[in-house]
Amino acid sequence: MNLRNPEESKSPTHSPRTSPVAQRSYDIPFTPPPERVLDHLSLAVVVMDLLGRVAYLNRKACNLLGYTAEEACGRPFDEVAHLSRPSTNLPVDSFQGLDTNGKRNGELAVVRTRDGREIRVLLDVRLLEQEAGNVEGCVITLRELSSEPPADGWVYLGVASHELRTPLTALRWGLELLLEETHGPLSPEQRELIGLAYEGTLSMVGLVEDVLDASRIEEGRLELLFQEVSLPELLEDLKREFRILGERRGLKLEWEIPREPCPKVWADPERLRQVVRNLLSNAIKYTPRGGTVTVSLRREDKELVLTVVDEGIGIPREEQDRIFTKFFRATNAVRWGAEGTGFGLYIAKAIVEAFGGSIGFHSEEGVGTTFWVRLPLKREGG
Ligand code: ADP
Repeated sequence: MNLRNPEESKSPTHSPRTSPVAQRSYDIPFTPPPERVLDHLSLAVVVMDLLGRVAYLNRKACNLLGYTAEEACGRPFDEVAHLSRPSTNLPVDSFQGLDTNGKRNGELAVVRTRDGREIRVLLDVRLLEQEAGNVEGCVITLRELSSEPPADGWVYLGVASHELRTPLTALRWGLELLLEETHGPLSPEQRELIGLAYEGTLSMVGLVEDVLDASRIEEGRLELLFQEVSLPELLEDLKREFRILGERRGLKLEWEIPREPCPKVWADPERLRQVVRNLLSNAIKYTPRGGTVTVSLRREDKELVLTVVDEGIGIPREEQDRIFTKFFRATNAVRWGAEGTGFGLYIAKAIVEAFGGSIGFHSEEGVGTTFWVRLPLKREGG
């Protein structure tokens, strides 16, 4: 414990005058060259021009990728740092999937270095603009992830979750059948009690699945079974699935699904269903009774755009940057009292990006939130 008189530390004998910092005169402004500052970062920073060539890389990027700045500059970025999505091996296009502010954050990727090693990184991309709209290239930052196997805790959680899956699914089906009154009518009290048990089971199923998926993403082994997927059909299924929950929460669910034939996307149908399910259950969870949740699908050029619009509590502006990070829950959501783990959107983003798509949102606190997912159309004959 320091029991010295606080005044003592102000006396000349205790002033930090002997440190080099204190000796510097502040009359002349200190302006270190930005490159020197960037070389002190523990993040790898690479600047890429519009043609995809490396224009600059800091010292950490040189060390990570195994090139000197002279060797790397001017060469295609993809040659110097081949980036792909974990487990799918799909290449990452840095200029794709940016949000309206010209950035994307916290994407999990694998970078192949000069000596052929594959290193897991968290990728951030930001457009480099001279002035608004005048794009010159982009800045890519790579944060190296630990190559350690996931902590034991994750392994135990993964195993426990796996074991819980089958009994929970049986419980859920049983309760669903009872609620649908397949085995006879229910009194209002019975309906209420079984309804509560059903909601509890749904959140347990969700939690178990999320823990399993997060551990798969962490270990880079999220397996995807790609095939042609009809999004209107998938939405029709979900419409049936969510009817009961919507009613129980006193919400109006609206579906704007195109009737005319709609091109297919190339994705894993179960994973895609999981993404939409997550967006929809969030919209329902964070919207007060009496509100409306609208799911719509439309085609825009070479993409299908799915939106889930709600009239809920919204996401505070200052917390919006962190919404796709693992475990993150906004302060107003916690206050609202709805249960959640903060895994759903982290998983949804990893899945959508593995399909070559993008996900984002706009939201106003107290007004509502719109989440969108853009998926590339399957190429004809591809
Ligand atoms: P969870 O809902 O389990 O907490 P998610 O990853 O799905 O986890 O969502 C993370 C956080 O994002 C939520 O806790 C909430 O703060 C916010 N959020 C997501 N969707 C909405 C929404 N439709 N309206 C308001 N907040 C939302």
